[in-house]
This record gives sequence, C-alpha cells and structure tokens, in this order.
Amino acid sequence: MKVWTVANQKGGVGKTTTAVSLAGLLAQRRHRVLLVDLDPHGSLTSYFGFDPETVEPSIYDLFAADGAGEVAQMLLRDTGVPGLSLLPASTALATLDRQLGTRSGKGLILRKALGSLSDRYEYAFLDCPPMLGVLMVNALAACQELLIPTQTEFLALKGLERMLTTLSMIQRSRHSELPYRIVPTLFDRRTRASVEALRELRERYPEHLWNDTIPVDTQFREASRSGRPLTVSHPWSRGSQAYRRLLHELLPEQAGEDEHQVAP
Ligand code: ADP
Ligand code: MG
Repeated sequence: MKVWTVANQKGGVGKTTTAVSLAGLLAQRRHRVLLVDLDPHGSLTSYFGFDPETVEPSIYDLFAADGAGEVAQMLLRDTGVPGLSLLPASTALATLDRQLGTRSGKGLILRKALGSLSDRYEYAFLDCPPMLGVLMVNALAACQELLIPTQTEFLALKGLERMLTTLSMIQRSRHSELPYRIVPTLFDRRTRASVEALRELRERYPEHLWNDTIPVDTQFREASRSGRPLTVSHPWSRGSQAYRRLLHELLPEQAGEDEHQVAP
C-alpha cells in the first residue's frame, strides 16, 4: 500500500480537498483507496456524511486499542464511491495528546494499524489536523511521502515554514528520509498576491515545489456538500483537471489512464 500524508500547520489551505480529490481519482480508476481522517474537526468525515460528534467507532478507538488490526477493520466505512473507504475521525480526537501522555510507542500506532490493512488497499491518504501533535507525528511515521498543500498567499508561506521545521524534527526519528512535495493551491492568476506567492515559492523551494498549481474553483465547495469528490462528480472541471495533473506527477504510471475516460 502506498501511503501519502497530506499536512500543513495552517488551516484552510486545501489539505482535505487534496486528499479527497486524489483519492477520488484513484478510486475511479478502479483502485482500492483508503482515506484516513486525523483531524478532530472531522472535515473529511463530514464530507462523506458522517457526524464527527457521534460517529463510533472512530480513529480515537484505534488509538485507545493501540492500533490493533481488528479495530482498524471495524472502523472502515463505505463512502458511497466504489472502491473508496474511510477511517472516520471523531471530535474526541482532540483529547488524544492528553490521553496518551508518555505511553511508549504512541507515535507508531497508526503505522501498525495501516499495516493490517495493507492487503486490502493499494493507496491511502492521511488527512492531518493543522497542528503538531500525536496525530501528525503518527501520520508522518506511517507514510512514504508527504504532500504539503500551500495556499498561494503571503501568510501561508509562514505556515509552510513551520511545517518544514516540524518535518526536519521528525526526519531525525525516522529511519528513512521522507520525501515531500509542496502543492500550490487556491491559485488565482489574476491576483498579484497569488502570482507573487508562487514566485516566492519557486525561489525558495525549487526542488520540492510541484511545477504547476491547483486553481481556485468554486465547484470544490459545492462538491463538499454533495458528498462526492469533485474529481468523481465533475471530472472535467478546472480543479479536477489540476488534481489529475498532480496525480500524474505522483504516479507517472497513471498518466496513460486518461485515454479510457470519455469527456462528456
Ligand atoms: P484544509 O483541510 O487545509 O483546512 P480544505 O480542503 O478543507 O482545507 O479547504 C478549505 C475550504 O476551501 C473548503 O471550503 C474547500 O471547499 C475550499 N477549497 C479548497 N480548495 C479549493 C480550491 N482549489 N478552489 C476553491 N475552493 C477551495
Ligand atoms: Mg482539513
């Protein structure tokens, strides 16, 4: 199972949208895909019509059970999109840092749980909360690659810096280096703020920046109300096309797949 973490220590930059969009694309190509909601706000969980206030069991129970494989299986929810499953978050996750305290091995719980699901899924996306804590640490230990959606505006560059500092801290405890990619999001070529932020990103992070952008597309917001990834409901919208380009960058072997899809 190939696992990506989607993280940034800033909210509203397109993390959840990136996870949903890429997962939707892969599910549509008949892959078995897992989405994992690690944010106590439960945006991803709400996206698919579950209520993070009441959903049970949730990722919280997985941590309480120390990542036991049986519990991981019990958490799996159907998203309504064929091939796409969800491990939901509940608001109780907000108390996790306190609950786990200094328990040893607490940073590897998710990695263990995903190990027990790796036969069932080909791809997984871990959607992180915007703060550093045990959930993000678990995600960074459980993935093979990190995606950092970064809104193309000046203040968002600060969030990116914080995220990269966190990453370098965590790299030290990982056995292998974690490759990462910065994904410029909410790009609007008509605004100076977007264009300048993108230029700044190119100057500062030439090696890690995806050489393209996810544009502002108001259809993303509407898609979140419909409970289906935009890439599934409107595959030819501007936003969906951009995520398709991103997928091809992440998985070059997927690039030929488009020929099988017919434009409406
Ligand atoms: P995060 O998970 O980083 O907090 P979200 O993915 O939830 O961010 O996005 C925040 C809001 O912005 C949501 O309402 C989402 O629908 C919207 N959004 C995300 N990406 C785009 C985009 N490219 N164009 C327009 N709206 C977007
Ligand atoms: Mg989110």
